[in-house]
Formats: sequence, structure tokens, C-alpha cells
Amino acid sequence: MLAHGALAFLLLALVQLAYCAQDYYKVLGVDRNVGDRELKSAYRKLSKKFHPDKNPNDDTAHEKFVEVSNAYEVLSDENLRTIYDRYGHDGVESHRQGGGPRQHNPFDLFSDFFGGGGQRRGPPGKPRGRDAEFKLEITLADFYNGVDTQFEWNKQHICDHCDGTGSADRKVEKCSTCNGQGVVIIKKQFAPGMFQQMQRPCDVCDGRGEKPKNKCPHCHGSRVVRKQTPVDLKIERGIANGEAVVFEEEADESPDWHTGNLVVHLAEKRPSMEDNPHRLDGVFFRRKGDDLYWTEVLSLREAWMGDWTRNITHLDAHVVRLGRPKGKVVQPGQVETVVGEGMPKWHEDGDSVYHKHEFGNLYVTYEVVLPDQMDKKMQGEFWDLWEKWRAKKGIDLHKDSGRPDQPPVRDEL
Ligand SMILES: [Zn+2]
Ligand SMILES: [Zn+2]
Repeated sequence: MLAHGALAFLLLALVQLAYCAQDYYKVLGVDRNVGDRELKSAYRKLSKKFHPDKNPNDDTAHEKFVEVSNAYEVLSDENLRTIYDRYGHDGVESHRQGGGPRQHNPFDLFSDFFGGGGQRRGPPGKPRGRDAEFKLEITLADFYNGVDTQFEWNKQHICDHCDGTGSADRKVEKCSTCNGQGVVIIKKQFAPGMFQQMQRPCDVCDGRGEKPKNKCPHCHGSRVVRKQTPVDLKIERGIANGEAVVFEEEADESPDWHTGNLVVHLAEKRPSMEDNPHRLDGVFFRRKGDDLYWTEVLSLREAWMGDWTRNITHLDAHVVRLGRPKGKVVQPGQVETVVGEGMPKWHEDGDSVYHKHEFGNLYVTYEVVLPDQMDKKMQGEFWDLWEKWRAKKGIDLHKDSGRPDQPPVRDEL
């Protein structure tokens, strides 16, 4: 009895294990209540990452690629996702056997997403609208820590009062000016008795061949309205300067085209004292890829005699300590590598299950400042000190240089 119970439990555990391994949400590295945009972005990153073109002869990557597109195919379809949430893989499979369209080829899905296949979703015949592109400047600290930010832009929306018909009662009628053709023929006389026929879009109906009976009061018949539209932007830590964040199909809308993408180009803001409320030294770091650069100034005494420390406040306010014990010399221009104190390395799969945390390096260049003014007495004392030790311990720069004693004889013409 006990053995039976244990066996049943084991079987149950095994079945669950098998399902867990393929959980669509886990495959995409997203939450169960993930939104549309986040889902798309997870798919975009992972499908690019595991695409066979990028991973030739790698079967595991190929399997992942298929797994990722299967997961996205189900979760991006509202209906299938509901079935999956309720009944799991079996539910989705039996629903599919009942018919219904299925893309199934992961490469079709991929080219749908990135173009290149020439086919896009939505009704055919409409051109694709322009991408809307913006440049957004953010601070180095935001690149380092990541940030959830929001910006607004004046986006064109399909008028929701008239559902994009331009008509108050949603009724449209044939344009009488062009007789529904959308174009009008004009005759131009270019010489006595000689005419040229030209065709141009009808400006009464804007070339559509139909116009609203009663203009929508909201969009005045133009079918679209512009309004300030907020966009939530999640900037992942370590993302590259100049990187573009793409919002699929979120550019200007129109009934005449498929909406293009909203593309936000990230740029690093120039550091300034005013823009540094937390008094971070790191604000003045210079970034090169995953590495950071910093110049530290030492006095002659510090560079020569050692026994100094510096606390540098990094971009997330943690402190990086530099220093030398007494007797440790730092040469002017010397570069110290502080391993792991650079930028967080950004991975295409972001915070998903495949993410690793790694950092670049911090390179500190030391500059030494010599005193240009000295107390007369101090100068005298130093001089005596040099003279005393020069004879005993001084180095002969000429001898040390290894160059010949006599200057080489030049060929005199
Ligand atoms: Zn017309
Ligand atoms: Zn309207």
C-alpha cells in the first residue's frame, strides 16, 4: 500500500518534471502574467540568440530555437494562451487537432518578426508605415543601474470616435468628385488645340474614392488624431551606448498602413555637476564598451612614498577603494586594472533565465602632480638631502640607458 503510494507519487513527480522542462513561460524566461510587449521582446531576443545562422552545427541551439518559437506561437495567441494556462500542452494539442491555422514553421515566424521573408501579418495590400525614431539621452548611472523610465511623444492614433472612418455615423459614401475612382483626370492645354491628359489623386476624398457623409467631430474627417502618448521604457543594465530599443508596431497609426516600429536610440548624456545629486564620482567615469576609465591624481609624496587611500563612489554608490602602503611607488601614467568594477555586461536575453552577471574592468590612470612652488628653506633642505644621497645611491641615467658612450659617427657627405 505504502509502496503503491510512493510509486504514484514518483510518477506524478516525473510527469510534472517533464512538463516543467517545457513550460512555455520558462522557455521565454517571462512571468505568467507577462504583457504583450514583454513577450515580444523576450521572443525577439531569444530567437535571435538561438537562430541556427548564429549557431551553425549546434543542435542544442537549434532545439532551443524551435522551443522558443513554439512557446511564442502559443503565448502570443490570446485564445491558445488561455487554453494553455488552463489545460497545458495537451489542451493546446487537442485544440490544434480540431483544425485552425497554425504556422508551425519557426523560420516563418522569425521572418515575420524581423522582415526579410517579405511577408508581414495583417491584411495584404497595405504598405508598412514609417518607423518613428527618437534619440533619448540618459546618464551613465542609468546605463549602469538600468532604469524604468517614461517619455511622451505626439503620436498619431486611429480616431476611436469613428473607428478610423472619419464619419460621425461611421457611414461613408462614394466621392462624387472622382466618382469613387480616387483619381481625377485633368486636361491641360499646352498649345492651341493640343491637350495633355494628366491624372492626379482626388483632393476631395484624398484619393480614397469615398468620404464620410457627416464628418466625425473628433478628427474632422481625417480619421486620425495626434495626441501626447506615454511610452514606458525599460532600460536594462549595461545596455550599449547607441543601442536602439524597438517597440514593435508602435509608430504612427493610420487606416492606410500597417503600423511601423517605434525606435528609441539611447545616447549617453554628458556628465555635469548639476546632474549628480548623489555626488557619485562614477558620474565622471568614461565608458568604453564594458569597461570604465578613471584618472586619479596623486601628489609627489603619495606617488613616491606610498601610504595613501582614495574612496571612489561608483555609479550605484558603492565604494571602490584605491591605495598603496608606505614605500609603494606609483609611476606617473601608470594604469591600474580593477577587475570587475566596470559596466555590467549586457546579454541579449536580459533578465531571463539565461542571464549571467558579469562586469567589465575599471582602469585607473595615475597622474602625478609635482609641487611648482616650494618654501625656500624646504627647497634648501631637499637639495641637501639629494646631494647627500646622490653620491651613494644615485642612478646614472646615461649608464642605465644602455646607449653607447660616444655618439655614433654620422656619414658626412
Ligand atoms: Zn474623390
Ligand atoms: Zn473620427
